[in-house]
Amino acid sequence: MAAGARATDEQPDHQVAIIGTGFAGLGMAIRLRQAGCDDFVVLEKAGEVGGTWRDNTYPGCACDVPSHMYSFSFDLNPSWSRMYGRQEEIWDYLRRCTDKYGVRPHIRFHSEVVSARFDEDACLWRLGTADGRDLTARVLVAGVGPLHVPAYPDVPGLARFQGVTFHSSQWNHDYDLTGKRVAVIGTGASAIQFVPQIARQVEQLHLFQRTPPWIMPKPDRRMRSGIKHLFARFPLAQRLLRNTLYWMLEGQLLAFNGDKRLMKMGEAMSRQHIARQIRDPELRKAVTPKYTMGCKRVLISNDYYPSLARPNVELVTDGIREVREHSVVTADGAEREVDAIIYGTGFKIGDFNSTKIFGAGGVELSELWRREGMESYNGVVTAGFPNMFMLVGPNTGLGHNSIVFMIESQVHYVLRCLELMDRHGAQQLAVRPEVQRRFNRAIQSRMKNSVWQSGCKSWYLDENGVNRTLWPGFTFTYWARLRRARAADFDLVSRNTQEPVRRLLPTEPVREWERVPAGAR
Ligand code: NAP
Repeated sequence: MAAGARATDEQPDHQVAIIGTGFAGLGMAIRLRQAGCDDFVVLEKAGEVGGTWRDNTYPGCACDVPSHMYSFSFDLNPSWSRMYGRQEEIWDYLRRCTDKYGVRPHIRFHSEVVSARFDEDACLWRLGTADGRDLTARVLVAGVGPLHVPAYPDVPGLARFQGVTFHSSQWNHDYDLTGKRVAVIGTGASAIQFVPQIARQVEQLHLFQRTPPWIMPKPDRRMRSGIKHLFARFPLAQRLLRNTLYWMLEGQLLAFNGDKRLMKMGEAMSRQHIARQIRDPELRKAVTPKYTMGCKRVLISNDYYPSLARPNVELVTDGIREVREHSVVTADGAEREVDAIIYGTGFKIGDFNSTKIFGAGGVELSELWRREGMESYNGVVTAGFPNMFMLVGPNTGLGHNSIVFMIESQVHYVLRCLELMDRHGAQQLAVRPEVQRRFNRAIQSRMKNSVWQSGCKSWYLDENGVNRTLWPGFTFTYWARLRRARAADFDLVSRNTQEPVRRLLPTEPVREWERVPAGAR
């Protein structure tokens, strides 16, 4: 552990600055309050909380993880209307949590962070915001999420197109699709949700598929009012359902990163699903993937395949050659006139949009990750970026369980790191590069025999074929390793100042129930 003397005595405006108000940012803010820390600010670029569940408003948008699991463990919602919550309901849940746990007064809306720069002399972060109200914080928590900067296909002529275009995550609700000829590019998690919805509305839909996804039946159902009452009256019953769901989902890892033969069972179920829902043998063949199930995200839907069989829907499997003023031309030379193009083409991973994060020595994070690959320690702290915590960082995404579980583990870890700083009277905590290297070597070796490395191309892998996005093990092993922050993993720096070092967290832990307003308990 190094102890250095520092030159300035500057006190930050806030102890903690959080970026984003999705599950990650809100979860962090709620837990900080519950831990008794009130000196924090949450910076949100939009005018309301919700992150991806605020932004993705495409028709049919819903979660493909059961809501009883895809929610905070400390706030089970007995009123989920369905097994798989829809976007509006999840967004509502997040807004309710914001108010219930008293986080809203801490949020600065319409405050997009454009730059974050670590000042090594003062041991604090200097944040530049688009609204010009810059600020400083001892600790930075980035809850920006990896899936929010739209990716567009690299097709010649896109800029020439004279019709309407938009991305699934920026749905244009002002544009009435009724009676229109529409091209949809992409058949991923988003597209398979909105295609069945708009297929009913448009005159003609051309769906451009590059690679078919594996799709399983969706075990969705309405939650009856009796069940909701039961959950409201006996929270233990809901906890039991949640635990059952957790272990059922967790068990799937055995197929993803255990014995790939288990995936053959899944593939057989998916083929049966296709056979039940599609009559046309040509169409069946076109939607049946040729890669091992799980290599890309496994999707669930009951209405996607039937929508492809509609007379006004055409599944196009020829690659797109170019886009002209009013049409899309495929490799075979066929030209399809369309009024609109909707991109269901996913997101740019590791791109923080306009936010530039500069660590020690002025190194910029996305630049570093582009050059050397996305790496951090425990998916939360990154060597060279002191006092910065990233939620849903590298290698902490999931293909088999709820990301909210991972977020809560990370939030817990951040609090343990802050405690560590307090215990050592440190103003600076930085993960040791060798600790990060060792961790990443272990992650990659654990990844070798996984289904994600079985030969398909997916956003899980970077351009060198390295999986920088998923956690390769059970989520409970991740939870266990993040229960405590080990001093040996970090360089903790204290500077000599006239003023005593301000604690990040109070000494006396505040009991959780005391932080919840009485009416909301
Ligand atoms: P995605 O899964 O990455 O799918 C993108 C689609 O666009 C793929 O079918 C891809 O084909 C296709 N594509 C990309 N570039 C193309 C091109 N140049 N020409 C033709 N096709 C092209 O994106 P997404 O559907 O937006 O979902 C992204 C992630 O968001 C998901 O994996 C999931 O983690 C999350 N999500 C979650 C939910 C949920 O319910 N929890 C819902 C929606 C999204 P290839 O496969 O050939 O690359």
